[in-house]
Amino acid sequence: MELTRIAIDGPSGSGKSTISRLLAEALHLEHIDTGAMYRAVGYEALRQGWSTRDVEAEPALLDGMEIDFQDGGVLLNGEALGDRIRTPEVAKAASDFSALAPVRAKLVELQRGIGRRKSVVMDGRDIGSNVLTDAEFKFYLTASVEERARRRCLELRQKGIEADPAQVQADIAARDYNDSHRKLNPLCRAEDAVEIDSSAMEIPEVLDCMLALIRGKDPAAAAGTAPCAREKKEQK
Ligand code: C5P
Repeated sequence: MELTRIAIDGPSGSGKSTISRLLAEALHLEHIDTGAMYRAVGYEALRQGWSTRDVEAEPALLDGMEIDFQDGGVLLNGEALGDRIRTPEVAKAASDFSALAPVRAKLVELQRGIGRRKSVVMDGRDIGSNVLTDAEFKFYLTASVEERARRRCLELRQKGIEADPAQVQADIAARDYNDSHRKLNPLCRAEDAVEIDSSAMEIPEVLDCMLALIRGKDPAAAAGTAPCAREKKEQK
């Protein structure tokens, strides 16, 4: 059976996870949220009280961590972590621990293994540029930092959490900096990825744009920026 692998990368809050889940549903593929895997490591490190130095000095600490997926959620040693990995503390720990070589080696190997066995929509920071370099389709989804902060505040408000917009924006900017300046597999757009700036787009529009490119293999996409996103920006 021929596999279809779709890689979606982008910064925090660009809507990658939601879009990837919807795209996977539309195409009947499995969705692999690699950020959730790094969050599982960050969560366990906080629970065990490990510092990044502890893991660097003793990478075998990671051996006892079995990470898997079930119904779209991440499992750590068989335990569903659910929303416990969605806190700002776990996000920060995920970002810090994701810079370590043993953490990346473990998770990248797991992700490549999944990509060899299954048709997937895999989202993260280095999927197109490192994990699945031979993916059939690659997208780089972005949005302005202001818009990403606005969306995150809205999301938090819907969960009944009032957040300081300036703080949310500062956290996002700090995570962007961390993720794109680390030595190992930093956040970057793969040369052959189609970039979509969703600042002025709603989720269904982004999804339609991707589906059109996947189904039609629009040659204009080879130029780098998805034409639908470009038009939308010009209209703004
Ligand atoms: O996407 P999400 O915000 O859940 O990712 C949490 C953190 O995991 C990111 O800030 C990043 O540091 C790390 N990550 C990574 N490589 C990936 C996916 C996520 O380094 N492929």
